[in-house]
Amino acid sequence: METPRNVIIIGSGPAGHTAAIYLARANLSPLMLEGDSTGEVVSGGLLTTTKTVENFPGFPEGVDGYELTERLKQQSQRFGTEIISETVTQILPIEGNFFEVQTASNKYISKTVLIATGSTPNRLYVPGYDRFWHKGISTCAVCDGGLPVYRNVPLIVVGGGDSACEEALHLAHTASKVYLVHRRDKLRASKIMQQRVFKNPKIEPVWNAEIQEIYGQKHVESVTLKDTNTGEEKSLQVRGVFVAIGHTPNSQFIRTLIDLDPAGYIQTSVSQETSMKGIWAAGDVQDPHYRQAVTAAGSGCIAALEIERYLH
Ligand code: NAP
Repeated sequence: METPRNVIIIGSGPAGHTAAIYLARANLSPLMLEGDSTGEVVSGGLLTTTKTVENFPGFPEGVDGYELTERLKQQSQRFGTEIISETVTQILPIEGNFFEVQTASNKYISKTVLIATGSTPNRLYVPGYDRFWHKGISTCAVCDGGLPVYRNVPLIVVGGGDSACEEALHLAHTASKVYLVHRRDKLRASKIMQQRVFKNPKIEPVWNAEIQEIYGQKHVESVTLKDTNTGEEKSLQVRGVFVAIGHTPNSQFIRTLIDLDPAGYIQTSVSQETSMKGIWAAGDVQDPHYRQAVTAAGSGCIAALEIERYLH
């Protein structure tokens, strides 16, 4: 058997890279499997799809999401993290309390594993979605809602859960109006979030409605909505569409090995341990609530410190 590595980090967003920085500085020579184009786990994670990150501490002018992940990558490589662009397909516990981490082309043996594979926002399958992605369509109001293009203009939030309510409330601070477009006539969100939404004069629920198509020149200008009961269509002039119809954690490859919650999020302890000794998880793949770059980085740091302690 090849000599087991100390630690393999799966995923390369803020959680994975923060862990890598700590583990590399502790001389534990982490290997990062950052993902490739064959799976959901993209190099750099979701942050790379955010245009300007204005809420990551230390960047008073904001920072491009792609640039931030490049900087994180440079920092973890500077201390000796080895990064390979492969997507993990399976992890098997093997003799000696080690793990065999399999990709399409390789197998790696490690004493510990950190899963930081993130989550994928669910998308709408309507004409115009791909064309206007980041030109008026976003899945993160906290990341993008403060940008000038979304200020003092009418916007849509799609969805009826807590995320949609949170996005609508967040956007209502800066938008001229927020239409909360939901496919049913009742929100799924918690009562307290519903009350906040209904009390906010800038938020107008649009019940039993689904977006049919998104239009514009260079940026979103309008959408057509279809009434799910009557089939009637109408046009709505808006400058932004924020889609909040849930996230899917990228945990499929591990679901038979460790405990997930019913939505597929990896269950972790306060020290980021999973139900299997030797495997930790950090970032969005185990966080259904906060999903921020900085909280992901924090959980990556905790996991790294715990892994270091375990290995010593
Ligand atoms: P969610 O609760 O699963 O809600 C998703 C919403 O999107 C539902 O209203 C659903 O409609 C709608 N939807 C799904 N697919 C759709 C489609 N193709 N077209 C149009 N609408 C669609 O997801 P979430 O809001 O992201 O929340 C996930 C978890 O995180 C929940 O447990 C939530 O409580 C938690 N969370 C909590 C907070 C908080 O406490 N502050 C904030 C955010 C999230 P239907 O209702 O018709 O199914």
